Amino acid sequence: MEFEIIDFHTHPFKTAEENICRHKEYCGMSAENTPEYLKSLGISHICGSALSLLRDFPEGSTLWDKIALSNKTALELAEQYNGFYTPGFHVHPKFIRESCEEIEKMSKKGVRLIGELVPYMCEWSDYSCKEFDEILDVAQMYDMVVNFHTIDNDQIDQMVKKHPKVTFVAAHPGDGENPQRHFERMKMSENYYLDLSGTGIFRHGVLRHGIDVCGSERFLFGSDFPICSPSMYIGELMLNPLYTDEERRNIFSENAKRILKVK
Ligand SMILES: [Zn+2]
Repeated sequence: MEFEIIDFHTHPFKTAEENICRHKEYCGMSAENTPEYLKSLGISHICGSALSLLRDFPEGSTLWDKIALSNKTALELAEQYNGFYTPGFHVHPKFIRESCEEIEKMSKKGVRLIGELVPYMCEWSDYSCKEFDEILDVAQMYDMVVNFHTIDNDQIDQMVKKHPKVTFVAAHPGDGENPQRHFERMKMSENYYLDLSGTGIFRHGVLRHGIDVCGSERFLFGSDFPICSPSMYIGELMLNPLYTDEERRNIFSENAKRILKVK
């Protein structure tokens, strides 16, 4: 059985500094060969944010300069990759006005994806702060999908409770209490989804557990390429007999297409 595969969680890169692969010199990776490499694994489309904030910046650059460059890089790569990549962009609670303007600007360009947001990389640690509330209100107005890195569970609970109409996609199911906390939030809000990237499916049975309690409509295939190897995640879904083909189809592509409103 062939499946269309959308990798909802990637961080495409333009330069070596923003390529977060820890072993990049062994992988023959470049910005140019990213689509070709991922297509060779069966992935037909990718989504996610660029991390140009990891580049060396001239002295005096502000945090927003770094964020804005990341967003610009995402748009440039989307153009270069010619339909292969849905860019995601960053916002930041220390820059409410700039973030809201960015949402408006991106919406005009047809971009509907915020994130993956990576607060741990940019001096931010609380999703439940009132500054982020303002940004999420605007994100909701523009019908954005918000993909975010999992940090403190209690803060995420508050954020989701305060914004029941925002479409959230949490990243990384995790270990310990994290998967359960994600599943509880899925029950709390029908607009809460989970992508399988990063720590996703390394605990055997975690995805079967999630599907049984929340349904396969709530999970999105994601790898966190280039820091993680997409073939590992594809292997779990394709090879493990725990899943039905319908569940695979939902997770690989149908759910992403539905929430991003693409055919
Ligand atoms: Zn990520």
